[in-house]
Amino acid sequence: MSEEKKTPEQEAAELNSQQLEGVAGGKAEPTRTECIIDATLCTCCGKCVFVCPKKCISRYGDTYVINKVFCNNCGNCVKVCPVQAVKLVEF
Ligand code: SF4
Ligand code: SF4
Repeated sequence: MSEEKKTPEQEAAELNSQQLEGVAGGKAEPTRTECIIDATLCTCCGKCVFVCPKKCISRYGDTYVINKVFCNNCGNCVKVCPVQAVKLVEF
């Protein structure tokens, strides 16, 4: 008996299930966006720190930075920043 050739749809479905498994196992993020702080705009007011549920924003020299490992892209910091220094960007 010969092995059946998979259709492109079947291959895509398998790939998706593998990717979802990775997400469920915490190996990959289910998002295509990330949050960044533009150091040239940040005035170090610190407002973003207080609204971050993951506590992943910290001072770094003359700006603030986001630890992407813990950021869940909730967007709270984007909304609260008075100078629009925080941006959710697609990658
Ligand atoms: S997007 Fe949310 S989790 Fe990520 S740094 Fe901003 S407030 Fe924190
Ligand atoms: S709220 Fe905006 S200006 Fe204030 S520290 Fe955060 S990124 Fe910088």
